[in-house]
This record gives sequence, structure tokens and C-alpha cells, in this order.
Amino acid sequence: MEIRINNPEETETIAKIIGSVADPGDTIILSGDLGAGKTTMTKGIALGLGIDQMIKSPTYTIIREYQQGRLPLYHMDVYRIENGADDLGLDEYFEGDGLSVVEWGKLLGEFLPADYVDITIEKDPEDMEKRKLRIQAFGKKSEQFLSRIQQKMEESV
Ligand code: ADP
Ligand code: MG
Repeated sequence: MEIRINNPEETETIAKIIGSVADPGDTIILSGDLGAGKTTMTKGIALGLGIDQMIKSPTYTIIREYQQGRLPLYHMDVYRIENGADDLGLDEYFEGDGLSVVEWGKLLGEFLPADYVDITIEKDPEDMEKRKLRIQAFGKKSEQFLSRIQQKMEESV
């Protein structure tokens, strides 16, 4: 699925929808350059889960966990992993009851979970606020997640 976004508010709207239909154990990988909007997207996802706490970028802590929503949110940023992800214990989160959202998740390589939704955010060189989102499901659970996202988006137009 491809979506064109015109401004940060639209990113938040889509992200809220995504958060509102997430199931326990779902995983989202966020791809895209620095400043593409991965953390902005995660903030919207958190709102969609009913989390009203401030979401801070976990670039230095790698993981931040939020428990006050409809589901736990495990927000990870693996930009700084250098020697592989084997000793980070991320599997515990992927197998947990929350929604995992992983900025730069592709860097996990073989430590990626088997089943995830990838959201790639592309900037527009001509317009600071425009983005192109490409949302792809890898695995059965994620295909169901993606079809719930599509359904909810159609209902919201
Ligand atoms: P990342 O986590 O990918 O490095 P951030 O979400 O931290 O990116 O930063 C994205 C920046 O781009 C924010 O300052 C945000 O306000 C700005 N921005 C402008 N337009 C958009 C948009 N359509 N969607 C998301 N962020 C946008
Ligand atoms: Mg970020």
C-alpha cells in the first residue's frame, strides 16, 4: 500500500489509525532517513493506543516501554547497534503482548522477527512536509494487521 502525505498532521492521523487496530504481538519496522518522520509516526501510533505520555526518541536507550495504553508499546531505535542485536534481548519484546515499533529495524538483519509490517517513509526533495509511505506486510499476522489498517482507513475517509 502506498500513501501520499502532505504534512505532519496527516502522518499523525494515519499513525493513530495504525495504533488503534494493532493486536498484541504485532511488530512495525520503520524505515527512512534521519528526519523522515519515524519518531513522529511512533507518537501518533502511541496516541492510537491511548497513550498520552510524551514519547521520547529512544536513540540512546534503544528501548522505551509504555504501559498505560490499550496495549503496551515497545518503542525501539536500533540505529546505534554496532555489534549485532543478539545480546539485546529484543526477542522478549517481539514475543511479548505489546506492539513493537522499531526505528531503523532493517539494521537488525537476522534478528528481525519473522512476521512484521514495514513502513518506509520517503521525503519529498521539493516539499519539506510531503512524504510517501509504503506499507508492506511480511507474514500472516502482519497481513491481517495491514488489512485492518486498510479497512479502518477506508472507514475514515
Ligand atoms: P526520524 O525519527 O525519522 O529521524 P522525526 O520524526 O524525529 O524523524 O523528525 C521528523 C521531522 O520532520 C519533524 O521535525 C517533523 O515535524 C518534520 N515533518 C515535516 N513534515 C512531516 C510529515 N509529513 N510527517 C512527519 N514528519 C514531518
Ligand atoms: Mg527517530
